[in-house]
Amino acid sequence: MASEASSVSLCPSNRKSESMNKTILLIEDNEQNRYLLTFLLEKHGYAVVAAFDGSSGIEIANTMEPLAILLDIQLPQIDGYAVARALRKSPAQKHTPIIAVTSYAMSGDRERALAAGCNGYIEKPINPDTFVSEVEAFLKPKKQSELP
Ligand code: MN
Repeated sequence: MASEASSVSLCPSNRKSESMNKTILLIEDNEQNRYLLTFLLEKHGYAVVAAFDGSSGIEIANTMEPLAILLDIQLPQIDGYAVARALRKSPAQKHTPIIAVTSYAMSGDRERALAAGCNGYIEKPINPDTFVSEVEAFLKPKKQSELP
């Protein structure tokens, strides 16, 4: 399954980090979710760095170049929307894929997550069989033929 991860490609300006960095930053306060998501991602050849709250997530993001950031929305103190906005203000994280992962599945939350700077949205409870490919769909640049 590790070969699947190596097929992940980013925009050309990020080619350098593509070959070196398979580390995903997971910002999630729930221990069971951290455990499950880390398990699934590692099984597919990714490395995972976890943050338990928004401010440490922002701090960690700025000390590494994560391949992507998985972001819980319901976090203590600073919620995921504010975390996404703060991440997008940092030049280093301007183009990093940020994927909201949340059970906060009220109508309009998807739009709110996208407006805050997230690239996508995966609902909890996650499907363990498809979760990693759902994440990977946000890592791959769209082919010309797939663009609207
Ligand atoms: Mn949470």
